[in-house]
Amino acid sequence: MNLSGILAQAQPETGGTTFGDLVLMIAVGGIVLLIIVAIALPRLRKMKWFKSLQRKAQKRREVKAKSPPAGGPAPPTTRKGKRKRALADQEAEVEDIDWSEDEGYEAPLQAVTKPLVKLKKKPSKRGLIERGLSKTRKKLLTNLRSVFKGRQLDEAVIEEIRASMLTADMGPHFTEEVIEHIRERWHTKEVTDYEHLEKYLKDYVKKDLHQWDLAVNWTATPPTVVLVVGVNGSGKTTSIAKLANQFKNEGKKVIVAAADTFRAAAVDQLTIWAERIGVDIVKHEPGGDPAAVAYDAVDAAIARHADVIIVDTAGRLHTQKNLMQELNKIKRVIAKKIPDAPHEVIMVLDATTGQNAVSQAKLFTSVVDVTSIFLAKLDGTAKGGVVIGMREEIDIPVKFVGLGETPDDIAPFDPDISIDAMFD
Ligand code: GDP
Repeated sequence: MNLSGILAQAQPETGGTTFGDLVLMIAVGGIVLLIIVAIALPRLRKMKWFKSLQRKAQKRREVKAKSPPAGGPAPPTTRKGKRKRALADQEAEVEDIDWSEDEGYEAPLQAVTKPLVKLKKKPSKRGLIERGLSKTRKKLLTNLRSVFKGRQLDEAVIEEIRASMLTADMGPHFTEEVIEHIRERWHTKEVTDYEHLEKYLKDYVKKDLHQWDLAVNWTATPPTVVLVVGVNGSGKTTSIAKLANQFKNEGKKVIVAAADTFRAAAVDQLTIWAERIGVDIVKHEPGGDPAAVAYDAVDAAIARHADVIIVDTAGRLHTQKNLMQELNKIKRVIAKKIPDAPHEVIMVLDATTGQNAVSQAKLFTSVVDVTSIFLAKLDGTAKGGVVIGMREEIDIPVKFVGLGETPDDIAPFDPDISIDAMFD
């Protein structure tokens, strides 16, 4: 006797359908559902949104694992303690970001929506740069000093200096050039010990970097149009907020244009920043034509007598040709309204990627005429020497540096302060 027969005998009939039939239907339904899930699951796993859900769940698990167990350190009570904890939390959050390029990186919105820790007293630009370059300084000085420990300059020491400079991401060309000069000065006894070397390196690098024209190309007849390019994740949106904030603090009327229409999150982030900073934003629906956004922004800037428009652009297109076409279209559209615009094309690079930032810069400069570099995240890296690599390898001036996550964490690049901060 089958399952429905046994159940039919055991249970009274309910109308036309027995209880046994009902159980049988549920069992069959369950089996069919299992088969469907078994067939669909492997396909589902390949889908982007499913991967994204898995990543988020993984991160939640990691965050849970990192959080202190019950009975762990008590929450800080003092203002200093609270600020220290908040800063540590922010740092941990940045470190948790998934930078993977192949899945299409989108910065988490909470990076800008979370309340920022307000410093009681804003550090000076020099202070910011010194703090930002502290990791680079530590690494470079530790390496160079340990090379000389109890030794005078000789061929072996010169080789170790070469390795230290490469580790600090000063770039192979610059390193070779300096090593040659050091060798010459070693023979003439101008450089023999660490103090000599430090002074020589500092003077040499400063002189070299002073050859850059670091002034922003402001137009005599506003608005000045600034196009911002760079790959997703480099810090482009945050850097635009910093530029907008700085220009506004200088008394300029600023409009930002959300022309990275490929990423809905980029438009949302820029909107939040614009509101926070108190500047106008021109945007369209996500997925719209970036050139149309730029066109409307220029129109709005002229009508509202703005001094500067900062145009965000897409940081990830499928091919180089695609990227070139997109950026050229934006430039053409802007030039229809203001013939000599854009006046600045700023490329945002992530300093933490060291020599990769130099390669990225080479790629972008082959596509668009970049006029200056915004070197973001200089505070989070020991690879600050990359600034020197920029001079040697692509020779596009680094006009701004990013030194943290708030709109105030920006400084104009100053060769003297920066190089002193790297070596002193
Ligand atoms: P985008 O995808 O290129 O637009 O990158 P975002 O502007 O969204 O920045 C990505 C992440 O880097 C965010 O968490 C930012 O807060 C962080 N970030 C951006 N600039 C800096 C910087 O100068 N220093 C530090 N420490 N973090 C930064």
